[in-house]
Amino acid sequence: MNLESRTDLAPALRIIPRDQHIISRKNISKAALRVLYRLNEAGYTAFLVGGAVRDLLLGVQPKDFDVATDATPDEVKKLFRNCRLIGRRFRLAHVVFGPEIIEVATFRGTGEEGGEGDRHIVDGRIVRDNIWGTIEEDAVRRDFRVNAMYYDISDFSVRDYVGGMRDLEDRVLRLIGNPEVRYREDPVRMLRAARLAAKLGMRIDAAAMAPFESLGPLLADAAPARLLDESLKMFLSGNGLKSFRMLEQCGLLKFLFPATARALKRDDVALRSLIEHGLSNTDARISEGKSVTPAFLFAVLLWGEVRDLARQAIEHGQDGNEAWARAATKVVAEQCQRVAIPRRFTFTMEEIWSLQPRFEQIQRKRVFRLMAHPRFRAAFDFLVLRADESATMRELGQWWAHAQQLPQDVLAAALPAGGGSAVEQAPAPMAARPPRPRRRRHKRADKPGSA
Ligand code: ATP
Ligand code: MG
Repeated sequence: MNLESRTDLAPALRIIPRDQHIISRKNISKAALRVLYRLNEAGYTAFLVGGAVRDLLLGVQPKDFDVATDATPDEVKKLFRNCRLIGRRFRLAHVVFGPEIIEVATFRGTGEEGGEGDRHIVDGRIVRDNIWGTIEEDAVRRDFRVNAMYYDISDFSVRDYVGGMRDLEDRVLRLIGNPEVRYREDPVRMLRAARLAAKLGMRIDAAAMAPFESLGPLLADAAPARLLDESLKMFLSGNGLKSFRMLEQCGLLKFLFPATARALKRDDVALRSLIEHGLSNTDARISEGKSVTPAFLFAVLLWGEVRDLARQAIEHGQDGNEAWARAATKVVAEQCQRVAIPRRFTFTMEEIWSLQPRFEQIQRKRVFRLMAHPRFRAAFDFLVLRADESATMRELGQWWAHAQQLPQDVLAAALPAGGGSAVEQAPAPMAARPPRPRRRRHKRADKPGSA
């Protein structure tokens, strides 16, 4: 059968019985099972759906469990005390079990049969989608075929309406329906393709990849809050490096992080190394269960542009501090038009960047003041990432790493009170050039005893 034509509105159902797939109830969260059973007992149909089914079939532990049912949100609410209804664009029920939330969605229809509910489309884009429908209709309005499989709690079978199982076996992401239409409805699907391909080690089907270049610009109109969500999922779920490479490889980076793409065009080697190290450190921290901050990550991604703008301004005679501050403001403002990075994070990013030139000032008071700065640790980690920018930066990183290990009095004794000669442990950190510290300080630093 022609795979291309069998999707859309005439799905071909394949039922995979319990003994022919690997999904076991012991890998499904207790909370999700309770929701499924309760709905089922109340006479509704209820399925585990989407990413959870896909991941379970791949032998990966899902990070969340979504349920699809023929009960409406109001009917779901009546069944669960711990339930709240959310969403405007997509009305959903959230059933809350402590820290775990099970998202329960009513089957969504195509709207062609004049189903009950409300859908709103502007310029081909779905801005609201609350038309209830059948499970078949629900399947075809999902994004990728591998995301449109349903695990039936009543007999433990998997229902595959659009050939998702085959795609899983072939490890390929194919969109359901016409890729152009599907991306116009929701451009974020392009990013989801890249993210899921990276996370699952799958390739993106050529037809699903082809429209990226022409439709990528539509991402500029996507809601910045959703792009933030999607960016955090990409970079802070343990697959940051793979996601970044996939975004670049698919040509989508320039639509999501234009400044990063521009800076990489100018300075491929050192900046790429900084970004890749930053992302792989983040991935490692996540796999060790350590905390990570989006601020550091965005500071890494946008650094190249901030650094280059600041250097340019300084070369044109602008004061160092002002040049850094302006560059940071400009780059953050541009990025926030795409990705709604919250103020508390942009503030930290600006601090991390603005502390960078201060690492070049190795005088007693300044060193201790910098070490006491609340953002010292993050700024230092950032400095270490900059090692590939130049030998001087690498030495500077090593000096500060060493300095932190010395007892305070030893460090104080080793440091010049004013500017001037470099400490023994630091082979000429004062010679550090890029980025140049602001001029006035530079002059002072050259004069011993003037701090
Ligand atoms: P993960 O949870 O691993 O990030 P996921 O595929 O489960 O990936 P979710 O955002 O949890 O992603 O979405 C759950 C399901 O909802 C998807 O598997 C897919 O079936 C459907 N879905 C999500 N986003 C879209 C979209 N933009 N367009 C169509 N269907 C979508
Ligand atoms: Mg999911």
